[in-house]
Amino acid sequence: MNIREFIIFGLSGQCGHDLKRLTSACSFIVDEPPSERVILERFSSIFEYARQQVPYYNQKFKHVFAPQSLYVIEAIRDIPCITREEIIRHSVLSRQGRPVTSLESGGTTGGKIKTHLDLTYLLDRYGSLLRILYALGWTMGEPIAALHPEEYRISRYLKTKEIRRFIFEAFLQYAIYRLFHNRVNIYYGRSCFSNVSPHNFKKKIERLGARLLITRPDILLAWIKQLSGSSELPAPVPVVLCVGNILTASAKALVEEMLGCSCHNMYASTEMGYVGLSCKHSGEWVHIDEDNYFVEIDTAGSSEIIITDFRNRAMPLIRYRTGDVGNLQEGFCPCGRKGKSLKVLGRVNRFILNERGERVYESGIVDIISTLPGVSGLQIRKMPHNQLTVRMRSFQSGIGALDSLAKALGVRRESLSFDPDSNFLMSDSGKFPYIC
Ligand SMILES: [Zn+2]
Repeated sequence: MNIREFIIFGLSGQCGHDLKRLTSACSFIVDEPPSERVILERFSSIFEYARQQVPYYNQKFKHVFAPQSLYVIEAIRDIPCITREEIIRHSVLSRQGRPVTSLESGGTTGGKIKTHLDLTYLLDRYGSLLRILYALGWTMGEPIAALHPEEYRISRYLKTKEIRRFIFEAFLQYAIYRLFHNRVNIYYGRSCFSNVSPHNFKKKIERLGARLLITRPDILLAWIKQLSGSSELPAPVPVVLCVGNILTASAKALVEEMLGCSCHNMYASTEMGYVGLSCKHSGEWVHIDEDNYFVEIDTAGSSEIIITDFRNRAMPLIRYRTGDVGNLQEGFCPCGRKGKSLKVLGRVNRFILNERGERVYESGIVDIISTLPGVSGLQIRKMPHNQLTVRMRSFQSGIGALDSLAKALGVRRESLSFDPDSNFLMSDSGKFPYIC
């Protein structure tokens, strides 16, 4: 155990959390998922707690059966879901909850919501983060580089006079991440998607000697595609952890080839925490932490991902509609784990309906960028009368790529028009909207 681990594990032990045991497993999740009986017990426990402690749930679940009758998983589907809009309109804070902080989601689509966490849950989440980092072969103190959009600089809380949040973020970023995790943030502006300097990131990552790079896949893909058009050698970083938006199998393969790294995909959100992590065999699918989350797909048509978090008692989220669309599968993975895994396709309201009547979500656009030679950025804007305008950054002929693009999307070539504006539109949270 190094000195940083000694201090962090010791402090967490004082708060009743055995982080040393968690991280020594070197695995994000156990090989064997919990039994159906255990899942039902955990679901019933948080459901009953929410119904008793949160006035809004008390009203909402008034006509829902008693949790004792939750004897099969399928019965959970009879419980109404909660949406982002409901959480914004009605408080779902529990009466017993003692929040120590609140985290605001980026609001890429829809309004922003604040997720309140009590101390126990905050430490639980931190434990999950450490389990993920240790599962990737990192040890506390080894250098980490993290790419962040400018929007994530903590000085924004000073501008909005959110002093408590500023203090919490400053403690997290500088005391925990910088001092103990040895993590350095590298900030990038919106213009990087239109004009990435591939050498800029490389130099900074090299200077840090980073063992691990944490990044959103959107900026990573833009960077890698720029790099593929230059003679520059990639930055030597052994492990890349992607979080925040879409990483497809083709994008992941390209990153691994270009950087010579092992690239992992994490599914996480401000509201839910760290839900899943890919292994080296699972491609773009992430193994779900079934001990702590119940994950469903809306089979009624939208394929929206619905999640119940078993641990958040300050602000319980029961069957929360995430706004993400995905596929769920169950079975064995060559890594030895069994249980559920999840593939995220995009946001529920961001898709192109093609000629075959199929929905092409943002993952489809990411696949096209990954595989279309010469294209480093691509954004499709939906216009009236089923017309699509295309903004593209390409170091070959952009116009010539429209034929391939129409074919890949499954749309008529006449429905696509090239927009010569090379500046991409961006979301408020700094995420790159592939479809807007
Ligand atoms: Zn696996």
